[in-house]
This record gives sequence, structure tokens and C-alpha cells, in this order.
Amino acid sequence: MNQVDTSPTLKSQFTQPLLDWFKDHGRHDLPWQKDINPYRVWVSEIMLQQTQVVTVIPYFERFMQRFPEVSDLAAASQDEVLSHWAGLGYYARGRNLHKAAQLIVEQHNGVFPKSFDEVLNLPGIGRSTAGAILSISLQQRFPILDGNVKRVLSRYFAIEGWPGEKRVENQMWGLADNLTPETDFADYTQAIMDLGATLCKRSKPNCNLCPVKTDCRALKTDQVASFPNSKPKKNKPVKQKWLLLQKNSAEQVFLYKRPQKGIWAGLWSLPEFDSYDRAVDFLNGEIHRHDAHSLSEGEPFRHSFSHYHLDIFPLIFQASTDYEIGQPSNRVQETPAEYSVAHHQWFDINRLKSGEIGVPVPIRKMISSL
Ligand code: SF4
Repeated sequence: MNQVDTSPTLKSQFTQPLLDWFKDHGRHDLPWQKDINPYRVWVSEIMLQQTQVVTVIPYFERFMQRFPEVSDLAAASQDEVLSHWAGLGYYARGRNLHKAAQLIVEQHNGVFPKSFDEVLNLPGIGRSTAGAILSISLQQRFPILDGNVKRVLSRYFAIEGWPGEKRVENQMWGLADNLTPETDFADYTQAIMDLGATLCKRSKPNCNLCPVKTDCRALKTDQVASFPNSKPKKNKPVKQKWLLLQKNSAEQVFLYKRPQKGIWAGLWSLPEFDSYDRAVDFLNGEIHRHDAHSLSEGEPFRHSFSHYHLDIFPLIFQASTDYEIGQPSNRVQETPAEYSVAHHQWFDINRLKSGEIGVPVPIRKMISSL
């Protein structure tokens, strides 16, 4: 991976010109920029995921008319919420919004939480969305890294590598944080999103008007069209899984027995999820049962099968209690399909490390690292 400049001069070369440009050329009259509060910004951010501003505007206005407060959304039926989502697609966003509104009413007295961790814990909210909500509505300093920002950064710094790759994404998070100013958080967040949406577009970017063109490496080297790098094409496809390692205070790990067909057939394995957010969603249903817990991300690694590569993102959940040992049946109904299997069990870590139990190699690697 190429090295990029992270010196303080970046703020004068990038952040300040971007803020200056935003004053005159940014978008200032979008519906969610009026009567700003965390609830309105949250709804707009979720609607804007994978959907263009022009499409979102009428949906947002109708949604706010029917559900002006988070309590109105929480009190509605899921059917009604989804009927207001019809046409926007990606319905999980609407379901998560509804579920999160109910949690806000139950756990936060109907007041949208103000701490980053509490916001991140809500269903359907990832790191970038949490940062956008808190910086735009509450003037807290958090970087964002949505698709627009990734495109701007990958071009400005000529970052090699596909932004969906964890190591590239981590590098971008570092840059996004360095570039975020010490004041004007809301303006900066909106400015960098606007730059990506209006000038540094996916195709035909308008570099002539760009406030940071002087130091844009992709432009200087005439390689704008090469960034961001595409997903690498390989003979073998790459799949990604978030594996959840749940550990309790009795030094036990929760495993399930895989079906008799497919990969790792009949072995004991960890619950798998297709995204970090889905794993967190699942845990949200579990966490409130515990007094204390922690969730951390392990170092991602790749495991190759004959027909595909599997990129594994370990998540380590540590509970301070025995964590309902032996009562998995409570959970099956509410968990993703990958997890809904017949046999679940807690195992002593030492038994697993000794090799006594049939566990796939990458899972054993994760457990051994505990
Ligand atoms: S100069 Fe062009 S490629 Fe570079 S950040 Fe600006 S719009 Fe994007």
C-alpha cells in the first residue's frame, strides 16, 4: 500500500479550502437541514444510504409528516413504517429504523442518545452513520467514511487498493480522522459529502471546480479514472463473514454444530453474519441481558477453500456473567438463518484448545488467540 501524507499541513491544504467552498457552493437547503435534530438527521442518513438525494427528499418529507418524533415512529406498526418505505428499497433499513426507535423509547426515554457508543449500538447504525448523526446534529467531532468520502479520499491521496478491503478502509478511517477539523464539525461533514456527491462524482468528476484540486494526487498524475481501485478480480471469488466469538465469565465459548452438508460439515463453529451490522443487530438482542460486556474486533484474516477465499472478521464478545449457558433455544427465533441450527453448546476454552472437539482450523485459530 502506498504511504500517504498525514502531516498537519493537510488541514490547510484540504480541510480549510473545503470548508470555504462549502459556504458558497455546498447544499444548505435540504429538508433535513431545517429544524436539525438527531432524529431527523438519523432518518435522512439511513434513507440516503444507497439512495440519491433527489429520490429521498419526498420520502423524507412524508415520513416526517407521519412520524414527526421518534416516539411516533416507535408507536407505529412495522407494516405502516414499511409502507412509508415502499419504493426506497433495502427494507432492512426501514425495519432497523423502527426497531431502533422502539429501543430509544424503551432504553433512553424517547430521547435520541448523545454518546457515540450508544448511537452505534442502535440497529442499522454503523460507524460512519453514527459519526454523521452526532457531528451534524450535535456538533460532536467524529469523522465519517461513506461511499462519497471514500471516493474523494482515494482520489485525493491516490490510495491503492479496493476501499472495501479492510486494510484500505482502516487507512481511510485514519485519514478521515486527521482531516476532520477541531471546529465546524457539522459543516465539514456536510462539505465532504457534498464534494463527493456534486463534484467528485463516480463518473465525470468536475475537477475544474474542485476546491482541493491543487493537491489532488490522482488529478496531478492524470489517474482520476483509476481511483477508487475496483474490487480485485480473481479466479476465486472472495466472501466475507463476521464470526462472533461469545465468551462468558466461566471461560467458555459458544459454538453451534454445522449442518451435515456444506463447508465445515458437522463441525462445531461460531455464529456467522454477513456484515458487522448484522452481528451487532443480533447482539443488541442479547446485550441488554448482561450487566457488563465488551465487543471488540480481532485482526481480519483470510481462509482459502478450493473454490473461494473467505475473509473472516472476528468479533469478540466478552460477557461478565455466565451468560445464559445452555439456553440457546430462546434465541433461535430471532437470529439470522445462519445461526438457526439445532445444536448449540457452551464449551470450555481449554477443551477446545486441546483439540478434543471438532472445530474448523480458522475457528480454532481464533479461540487459541484468546
Ligand atoms: S480534483 Fe477531481 S478527483 Fe481530485 S478530489 Fe477534486 S473532484 Fe475529486
